[in-house]
Amino acid sequence: MTKARKTLIRSENSLKQATLKDVFYVFEKIINKYNEHSTKNISFVDCILETINKNTRENYIKILSTCNCCERHRINFPKQSNEKLPNINMANKINNSKNICRCPCRNYARFLVRTFNNQ
Ligand SMILES: [Zn+2]
Ligand SMILES: [Zn+2]
Repeated sequence: MTKARKTLIRSENSLKQATLKDVFYVFEKIINKYNEHSTKNISFVDCILETINKNTRENYIKILSTCNCCERHRINFPKQSNEKLPNINMANKINNSKNICRCPCRNYARFLVRTFNNQ
């Protein structure tokens, strides 16, 4: 394991108060990791699970819920790890509107909630 990699894991699992920017940064890393994995059978949820510990995942949901990007992303935003997610078809319908905000906050929060439903 390289030194940079160790540092990354330490920062992901740190309980020091992370910011919204930190959460987006960690997710970018997980997406990269997921893309490297793509030939193997691993889901994005598994990738999150093997990268971020439970307390940090719960913390990240709370941090993501503070994002103020737009009103649409406030709708059905999961604020807790045990929250029920809306069904996918309904979510897709809402996403088809024009001029949509590209902020990934709600998407990331939903993936985090899925990591808890998975266990
Ligand atoms: Zn938004
Ligand atoms: Zn947002």
